[in-house]
Amino acid sequence: MQIFWVSSSVGQIKSINITFKKLVVMSTIMVSVILGLGIALQFFGFRMAIEYDPSIARKLGNLHTAVELENLHALYRLKLNELNQQLESNRQKIYQLLQLNKRLSEIATPAMLRKESDRFSLEGLYPELLALNQTSTLKALSITAKQMRRLNKVSEQDIDQLSRYIAWLESKPIKAPLHGEILMASGFGKRTDPMSAMPSFHPGIDLSAPIGTPFYAAASGKITQISSNPEYGTQLILEHADGFTTRYAHLQSVAVKQGSLIQQGDYLGTTGNTGKSTGPHLHFETMRNGDKIDPLKLLLITQK
Ligand SMILES: [Zn+2]
Repeated sequence: MQIFWVSSSVGQIKSINITFKKLVVMSTIMVSVILGLGIALQFFGFRMAIEYDPSIARKLGNLHTAVELENLHALYRLKLNELNQQLESNRQKIYQLLQLNKRLSEIATPAMLRKESDRFSLEGLYPELLALNQTSTLKALSITAKQMRRLNKVSEQDIDQLSRYIAWLESKPIKAPLHGEILMASGFGKRTDPMSAMPSFHPGIDLSAPIGTPFYAAASGKITQISSNPEYGTQLILEHADGFTTRYAHLQSVAVKQGSLIQQGDYLGTTGNTGKSTGPHLHFETMRNGDKIDPLKLLLITQK
């Protein structure tokens, strides 16, 4: 086979003779060069990828060099140690939560309700940290993950439990109905009636307060009665959880409506001197399932 072509620059006609043998030799050389290049690229390229960017090597061939494996292992162990430290720190925080809950029970729960509050004690089972397994990072990681999940569950339960406990406490008449220092004019129980001078029973406590003093809900609950009578004057009755009710009497004004839901500490109105009263004060009564209870057994106050 002869190929002719015209050189564009000088206009000369050139020719080349191609024989079958020449064609075979040229093809063989070309194929060899291409194959050689491919193999070289595969070998050196892969080596380069491993050395300079292991992620590419991993993607290409799922292979690791010994150095890389060692580095990975060290990294895993470092992260695992961090996880274990975090786990320990979380465990200690939950332990503190447990202690705080205990403390709350001691200082914010009236003695007569202490037994009922036992059901709010926090779970005492806390996951023990297992020693880091040096032989199997994977095993140690799975243990850590398991402990983390357990710790998380425990802390969620504890937060719920603590929230329920606080809501329970807030539904009990334990908060003083007046702000500031409490001056008690008359206590609960048998006394000489200040009006008739006859022996009588005082079903609540009288807290001295000038007319117009704001008073507040001792517990969360519902306003079940706003009324007026010659004995109590203007009065307010609140119903709380677990059979508790509170009465606020001799009032000047009431700022809430019957049927309203009230939070512990909500403003209810002002104290006065209405009804059978010898002077301005708030008559505060606590009942449970109809039985009169000395409010001082429940109120978390220090009296003057
Ligand atoms: Zn009274």
